[in-house]
Amino acid sequence: MSIDIKPENRPEGIEGAGFFATSLDKVVGLARANSLWPLPFATSCCGIEFMATMASHYDLARFGSERLSFSPRQADLLMVMGTISKKMGPILRQVYEQMAEPKWVLSMGACASSGGIFDTYSVLQGIDRIIPVDVYIPGCPPRPEQVLDGILKIQELTKSESIRRRDSPEYKAQLALYGIE
Ligand code: SF4
Repeated sequence: MSIDIKPENRPEGIEGAGFFATSLDKVVGLARANSLWPLPFATSCCGIEFMATMASHYDLARFGSERLSFSPRQADLLMVMGTISKKMGPILRQVYEQMAEPKWVLSMGACASSGGIFDTYSVLQGIDRIIPVDVYIPGCPPRPEQVLDGILKIQELTKSESIRRRDSPEYKAQLALYGIE
């Protein structure tokens, strides 16, 4: 009996009997997208919603991201969740700088993305004032479904990114805007 296997999300390529060929960029993108190791930088209530996303009902492990990293050196995805005070800003930036390339940043919730309801002298009005952000998740707090959606958006970015983008003048210019070499 022959089994007809048709993987849904395979990259574009050339196929025939017993072989499938595609470009290196696409294979690397596929591997990266399905093995993102998040670093949860959780400072307040959005962090609790992230814990719900990790738990059995929503099960972030389905997307290959169950391995949380509490060391920036072994993390791919910085997830910032919660109110970031101005005092905390330099620490967040240091964590970002210690992460190896390629790295992505997800800003979860109103506080991380814009300061939220805390329009005060002590709260950073959005983490994109100190580090570049790839995807924003709106809400206060966002539901776990939104967090999953944010992770899927990061996966799309990861899959479509050239393995050479990080060496490109455009990427370096973007980091230079933040004073990061
Ligand atoms: S966005 Fe809302 S739920 Fe999230 S940290 Fe801020 S106040 Fe808390």
